[in-house]
Amino acid sequence: MTVEAGLAEVRRRIESAATSCGRDPASVRLVAVSKGHDADSIRAAYAAGQRIFGESYAQELATKAESLADLSDLEWHFIGHLQSNKAKVVAGIARAIHSVDSSHLARELARRARSASHPIHVLVEVSVAGEAQKSGVLPQDLEAVLAAVEAETSLTLRGLMTMPPHGDLDIARRTFETLASLRNLHGGAQRLPELSMGMSDDLEVAVAAGATMVRIGTAIFGKRE
Ligand SMILES: *Cc1c(COP(=O)(O)O)cnc(C)c1O
Repeated sequence: MTVEAGLAEVRRRIESAATSCGRDPASVRLVAVSKGHDADSIRAAYAAGQRIFGESYAQELATKAESLADLSDLEWHFIGHLQSNKAKVVAGIARAIHSVDSSHLARELARRARSASHPIHVLVEVSVAGEAQKSGVLPQDLEAVLAAVEAETSLTLRGLMTMPPHGDLDIARRTFETLASLRNLHGGAQRLPELSMGMSDDLEVAVAAGATMVRIGTAIFGKRE
């Protein structure tokens, strides 16, 4: 399948998922996850109208951002686990970071973002299911990290992200619903407008649970190497 066809199919799935639960399809933004795929695949998706791309590794992001610098309205989102020593690279490129998982990382990103022209959008990654998820803040530690982000003028708090354990749609649904209730517990959509949740296999349940950004790789670009 071509990138164009994959993208068209994902857009159709988002629209149908939104419509069937009474949501405006435009309230769900698509982050095309391009990790493991080359710059030409990204150009193909860009030519088909896609503007937001997600990457998980700092070095891969840097390399691609350089080779695609001519696409000036392309928006990079960083979605992978981020170590503080990579904060500088990522802060210089990404418009949004979905995976902030500690106050320490928030402070480090803020320091690196101070010279940027606009604040970096931050989503805090939550480990809703506790130890079954590899990364993210535990719900009981969430408020402290949200406050740490809000304390920084070079960061803008935008919302929450989660990544359920693989393979079980019921667990995914419960994970997404729990993230949505955590949002309500911590100030609602006013404070946390974005819920980044849903991947190739579970975007429909994520949209039903209130996702405002879905992060889709395989269904657009095919299998990664
Ligand atoms: C790789 C990745 C995705 C995309 O997963 P697919 O199953 O390929 O759609 C989404 N979110 C994160 C955090 C990822 O690392």
